Amino acid sequence: MHPPVTLRALKATAAVVPLPTPLRTASGVIADSPLVLIDLETSAGLTGHAYLMGYTPLTLKALVQLLETLGEELTGAVVAPEALTQRFAARFRLLGTAGLLGMALAGIEMAAWDVLAKQAGLPLYQLLGGASRPVKAYASFGMDGLELGQRLTSDAVANGFRAVKIKAGYASLAEDIAVIRGVRAAIGPEVALMVDFNQSLSVPEAIRRGLALDEEGLAWIEEPVLQDDYAGHARVAAALRTPVQLGENWFGLREMGRALDLAACDLVMPDIMKIGGVSAFREAAALASLHSLPVSSHLFHEVTAHLMTVIQTPHYLEVMDLAAAVLQAPMRFEDGHAVLPSGPGNGLAWDPAAVARYRLN
Ligand SMILES: [Mg+2]
Repeated sequence: MHPPVTLRALKATAAVVPLPTPLRTASGVIADSPLVLIDLETSAGLTGHAYLMGYTPLTLKALVQLLETLGEELTGAVVAPEALTQRFAARFRLLGTAGLLGMALAGIEMAAWDVLAKQAGLPLYQLLGGASRPVKAYASFGMDGLELGQRLTSDAVANGFRAVKIKAGYASLAEDIAVIRGVRAAIGPEVALMVDFNQSLSVPEAIRRGLALDEEGLAWIEEPVLQDDYAGHARVAAALRTPVQLGENWFGLREMGRALDLAACDLVMPDIMKIGGVSAFREAAALASLHSLPVSSHLFHEVTAHLMTVIQTPHYLEVMDLAAAVLQAPMRFEDGHAVLPSGPGNGLAWDPAAVARYRLN
């Protein structure tokens, strides 16, 4: 039997990592990914890894400070993700855990699971009870306009992807349709095409554009209206034939539950960081399966790929290379499917030279 592993130190490193292409959305541009890399050092000499996406460099110092303070408080604690989650729930009941605190706690939880998998000598999916299998994935792009959108999506198809996502929400429906038809012409009729509006439309406008887009054979329309307007999403979902996708902004299971209670969407895509980590993603997937809803992931494909092997209603893994520039071995994709890593843990390992290059201060 393994002796319990305890937390020795938590290191958090802010890094602003270049993206292959700046990510343009209907709600702003992300030129680099502002990340916080987490190293959970333990008594066993094993280090757990996870990263957080800060969305803007403005959050990074605050996240690092939160993580380091939490790390000091947790020094000597047993690295047991469920126990840590219970401890956090009690410790922060009065404050609540939406926002940066929830992101930091999820990062610690993910790194703790990495420690357990390494201690067991198993890839994370095996520790969770899954078997190795290719995980169906889609390549995710921004609001890139017609020519760049065509080039990026057709390159992805040439690299084996059978599903791609672009962002829309241009000034007019005519522009949305021109880009969507242009991309469809570039990728061909057999490739699944998803469209993300990043919360940019009003409910009547989302219904107007959505009804027009019902003719385009889209696999889904994502976040057409403000993400927490679940009643508004429900009106859009009820009006359209195209499935409505929602979930990347749910902070915790209860927000997801409220959305599902209102039939806000046809498909769900919890974000492993915002929903609360490895266990929370699994619980979110169980909740989705009770509603017979397919589950896709949002960002963080390295860790979420493991989970897609153990949930009941897996749909698509989102692939967006936020962290590839600082990873020793970015996840590989073959024929549009993620290849799960065979080594122990979640597969995340930093490239020290790249971290030194991109780290903040
Ligand atoms: Mg989205």
